[in-house]
Amino acid sequence: MKCEHCTRKECSKKTKTDDQENASVDVPSPAQENGEKGEFHKLADAKIFLSDCLACDSCVSAEERIQVSQQNAKDFFQVLNLNKKCDTSKHKVLAVSVCPQSLPYFAAKFSLSVTDASRRLCGFLKSLGVHYVFDTTIAADFSILESQKEFVRRFRQHNEEEPALPMLTSACPGWVRYAERVLGHPVTPHLCTAKSPQQIMGSLVKDYFARRQNLSPDKIFHVIVAPCYDKKLEALQEDVPMASRGSRGTDCVLTSGEIAQMMEQSDVSVRDAALDTLFGDVKEEELRRHDGAGSDGYLAHIFRHAAKELFNEDVGEVTYRALRNKDFQEVTLEKSGEVLLRFAAAYGFRNIQNVVLKLKKGKFPYHFVEVLACAGGCLNGRGQAQTADGRTDKALLQKMKGIYADIPVQLPEASTHVQELYQEWLDGTDSPRVQEALHTAYQGPGQPTDSRDIKW
Ligand code: SF4
Repeated sequence: MKCEHCTRKECSKKTKTDDQENASVDVPSPAQENGEKGEFHKLADAKIFLSDCLACDSCVSAEERIQVSQQNAKDFFQVLNLNKKCDTSKHKVLAVSVCPQSLPYFAAKFSLSVTDASRRLCGFLKSLGVHYVFDTTIAADFSILESQKEFVRRFRQHNEEEPALPMLTSACPGWVRYAERVLGHPVTPHLCTAKSPQQIMGSLVKDYFARRQNLSPDKIFHVIVAPCYDKKLEALQEDVPMASRGSRGTDCVLTSGEIAQMMEQSDVSVRDAALDTLFGDVKEEELRRHDGAGSDGYLAHIFRHAAKELFNEDVGEVTYRALRNKDFQEVTLEKSGEVLLRFAAAYGFRNIQNVVLKLKKGKFPYHFVEVLACAGGCLNGRGQAQTADGRTDKALLQKMKGIYADIPVQLPEASTHVQELYQEWLDGTDSPRVQEALHTAYQGPGQPTDSRDIKW
């Protein structure tokens, strides 16, 4: 993996073949380098898959590589082991937050219902010494609600001189890193400024939950269980607002596959347990998901919200039309033969490349694009459902899709916890604290004139 070409103008992905796209780059962990073995020494060392991370090899610095490789089971067990020692000054509260796209993997892999899988996972983590296990769906609620508001604002502001559209989603760290480090200014102003679910979960745990528990944020070790390795890179960039300054929102990301290996190799006895919530003794009653096939469903939620807010149209079922392939789909709102809204979902590198090319040519037909780095969406993240040779386990993925589809859908607007948090934590829905906790800004390489020279 090279790392010295961040400023070059020709993307290395351009000439990549399918085989290369599936190749992985080993990142030796410090333990591996020193010949040490961790507690679950057979765990796979952290890998960055080129197909995971649209940030091509030129976008990850040597320092970031080291920091990513340090987010592994050894890091996690180090905290657990320190908690067993007498020196209480080194003890930390261990909180684990699980992405909703990870749960179907555990259910499919261990042949359990998704509810039983979440109880088994939670019980396993608690039996190791984890104090709290949360679900990141509540963070995705915030991210979707803020994205909806931003789309409507951009739509109203949009004009030829200062185009605010299209809006491109920003929840996938592989895509965002690629946009920031390779594409730069022509693309970054179009990225939605709402933080990703992982970033918001970091703020919720290290700011809201820490204050509720009278804990300093640095006394909490926050782990995210995620479907991909790209989220390890994302954890390095998180800025946590307010009281939590100086402490990262997420200290360590472990993939679903890494956790499953721990479960398989562990001999601790496990008592199933319900997921925790951020609200003291209240337990998570029922799993729920957002309306998207294997993602958090930004497109469907924003489409319905925009149709109502901008055109007073109620949209029931969102109808997708596959264009070039099943990972490039279009959704339109039409009235009297006129297209009022034109949205697209573009998953996987080739479809993203197509979107970017259209955007650069200045003839872009979409108001909004849901962009995800992985073909098929987050269920197909490279940190889960992989065969030993690094390819997608298609049978397992198929099972996961069915399991995910069966989880009940709940609109983010319907969450009373979210509405309460807006008031209690953020001083309302339109306050400076909302901006600080739920929104971010993007960087791009070089000046706008430089990045226009990118060759494809
Ligand atoms: S699409 Fe989902 S799983 Fe894939 S890199 Fe992006 S966030 Fe990770």
